[in-house]
Amino acid sequence: MRMFRYLTIVLVLSSLALAQTAKPATGKSGKKASTTKSTSSAKPVEPPKKPAGFTTASLDTTADPCADFYQYSCGGWLKNNPIPADQAGWGRFNELAENNRAELHEILEKAAKPAKRSPNQQKIGDYYLACMNETAINKAGMGALKMEFDQINLLSSKSGLAWTVARLHHEGVSAFFDMGSAVDFKDANNVIAVADQSGLSLPERDYYLKTDAKSVEIQKAYVEHLTNMFKLMGDAPEKAAAEAQTVMTIETNLAKGSMEVTLRREPANIYHKLTVEEWQALFPSFSLKNYLSMSGKSAFRSLNVTNPDFFKAVEAEIKRAALDDLKTYLRWQLVHTEAAVLPTAVAQEDFNFFGKTLNGQKERSARWKRCSRMVDRDLGEALGQVYVEKYFPKEAKDRILKLVYALEAALRQDIRTLPWMTQATKQQALVKLAAIENKIGYPDHWRDYSRLQVTPDDALGNAMRSAAFEFQRQMGKIGKPPDRREFGMTPPTVNAYYNPSENNVNFPAGILQPPFFDFKADDGLNFGAIGAAIGHELTHGFDDSGRQFDAKGNLRDWWTVEDAKAFNERAQCIVDEYSGFTAVDDVKINGKLTLGENTADNGGLRIADMALLATISPAAQKEKIDGYTPEQRLFLGWGQLWCENDSPESARRQALTNSHALGKFRVDGVVRNMPEFKRAWGCKAGAPLAPENACRVW
Ligand SMILES: [Zn+2]
Repeated sequence: MRMFRYLTIVLVLSSLALAQTAKPATGKSGKKASTTKSTSSAKPVEPPKKPAGFTTASLDTTADPCADFYQYSCGGWLKNNPIPADQAGWGRFNELAENNRAELHEILEKAAKPAKRSPNQQKIGDYYLACMNETAINKAGMGALKMEFDQINLLSSKSGLAWTVARLHHEGVSAFFDMGSAVDFKDANNVIAVADQSGLSLPERDYYLKTDAKSVEIQKAYVEHLTNMFKLMGDAPEKAAAEAQTVMTIETNLAKGSMEVTLRREPANIYHKLTVEEWQALFPSFSLKNYLSMSGKSAFRSLNVTNPDFFKAVEAEIKRAALDDLKTYLRWQLVHTEAAVLPTAVAQEDFNFFGKTLNGQKERSARWKRCSRMVDRDLGEALGQVYVEKYFPKEAKDRILKLVYALEAALRQDIRTLPWMTQATKQQALVKLAAIENKIGYPDHWRDYSRLQVTPDDALGNAMRSAAFEFQRQMGKIGKPPDRREFGMTPPTVNAYYNPSENNVNFPAGILQPPFFDFKADDGLNFGAIGAAIGHELTHGFDDSGRQFDAKGNLRDWWTVEDAKAFNERAQCIVDEYSGFTAVDDVKINGKLTLGENTADNGGLRIADMALLATISPAAQKEKIDGYTPEQRLFLGWGQLWCENDSPESARRQALTNSHALGKFRVDGVVRNMPEFKRAWGCKAGAPLAPENACRVW
């Protein structure tokens, strides 16, 4: 996701991919690290471990399903699956992601061996080899960034700032703001340039601005981390401490100009189409002429400036801060971005703060895991091509498509029979539903990496060149129709998404296996797991944000006033419900931030249940497996998807920044709204999960 993570509204299934996306690692190294040949790993390859599908051992049948269904579904699993030391949290998504990573590892170890290789095999093998070569990385030291540091140091006036920032952006460093491209919200056939707020290092603006004890503690630890990093860059302790303060001040001021994550969910809030001249007028001290000529694309005349106020904050910062302070900030942003491929001491210090303090992860993950993840990030479709050949059975695609059609039929039925929507809006909703495209497994056309140079001895250079390749690829889309065949996630990813601008659902191969989808499992379980996940993504087309886009992907209001009002009243019920859940300490789930996901969970499981009942015969609906009816197994299948142990730090970060609620609430928050659940489990009216004030949108 590198630096383009916020440029389009893409609605994903789980927070996992977001939480685990490695930071961009890039830059341009004039110095070759070393030509030391290394065996890529000393230890034998850790074999992949397929997560189990549904098991009754994961249940806690001593719990009352009508009081705490999450505990009932997950109690056994939670007890038997403590968080591994190298993880911040541990759930079913993580289990599967670790399995997939180990499979990638096997592919990469093989590709790293000198043999006759295809161009793609050479790239993934050599990228991995260079990344694994810690000895060479340490030997090169911070000198590997010398040319980059020189570029920053040579800056002799603020008027030259735009050149330097352009260069950094090109290398994947999010200094001050992000530049990229996305489908025009109001013209779905055209990709436009997008300039977005960025330039922070903590996860979200609130991390800088909140004044409660825990937030202040994190801010202090961050300044300490900055100090340590400047020391590792070779600065004297006192100077390093002052530089840390400088960075904290600049980032805090940028945070003040940033839009809150909750407001960013509203498409209109992040759509401001301006001419380049209008954009320039927001921050006249930053030469866009220089910036755009450097960033390789000056041909566009207008763009989406997501948050114009933010660029005024950038202007104020450029005016306020001394030139040396701005250089200090750029130097920090560069090293922060590259930490993963810098010497051990730097990478370890980066982990100490971002992994341990911020996320509660006890130990760094093994180097092969980090390197496999980086290859997946930077060469995902070269690696993914091998992955799907080896691990994605052809017949899976057909089975999944059948499930998708069953879910679409259920949603169609649901829309037709909705009590609160008028015929006119229903008609439009059905048109939109019929137009949704389904993309399963992997793209039909693989990305061409031939212009990307990868060498076996330059980890930093490989990362920087990959970032530049991606930057140019994104900028190259401007002014053209979008390529709807493209996947926004790599094939081994354990996640899924709905893209409102393209009106399509996307299921990478990585998620289409147990515990999400099991060839051998009964319909009840599969409809409750992958079926509900499909339902979740389809419902995103009709959540508070997705509903504002039409069948063609344009931001256009197709709702009657009364239907929009009825929708908002129902959505507010969900906002209020989830706002009442406590994530950790005094941190509550943000009902507004998680509204789209919660709406999708509620709608998704409901239509999965409808689809299940439409698929199996009335007689089969009574047949029990492990003592449970198919409908009960559907709920258990859903419940077991979200089993997760979270560290308090990770639960806090997720509640403050993530649009997904924690696992427990994705289960109990949904089933309590369903009369179908009450019926399937025989819950008495008024039981905790059979309340009278249930919410329902879809
Ligand atoms: Zn979602």
